[in-house]
Amino acid sequence: MTKQELICIGCPMGCPLTVEMEGKEVKSVAGYTCKRGKVYAEKEVTNPTRIVTSTVKVIGSSLTAMVSVKTKEDIPKGKIFECVQALKGLTVQAPVAIGDVILANVAGTGVDIIATKNA
Ligand code: SF4
Repeated sequence: MTKQELICIGCPMGCPLTVEMEGKEVKSVAGYTCKRGKVYAEKEVTNPTRIVTSTVKVIGSSLTAMVSVKTKEDIPKGKIFECVQALKGLTVQAPVAIGDVILANVAGTGVDIIATKNA
């Protein structure tokens, strides 16, 4: 049996979580105040994922020089660096609307990068 200590990122309370595992199987989670903490802990020790947010340059917009973007869904934590690299130096042409796909299938994750701002 192994133990992992985590801090829940589900809200600003930051509850300290303790996960007990046997091999790759979660045996117990302790320390959570609400159900989101338990779900987070189970996912974090078995298949950690994150939403990635960033900005990319936009050309031809009278509103802004940069547009904020994010992954449409969580991507595996191990793909974050590759995702950030793929966004580096990326430029898009205005007009851009919230929800537009800026980069499809980022880092081979099957998840698109979408705009979170109009430009
Ligand atoms: S367990 Fe619930 S209350 Fe505690 S940090 Fe996570 S989301 Fe917030």
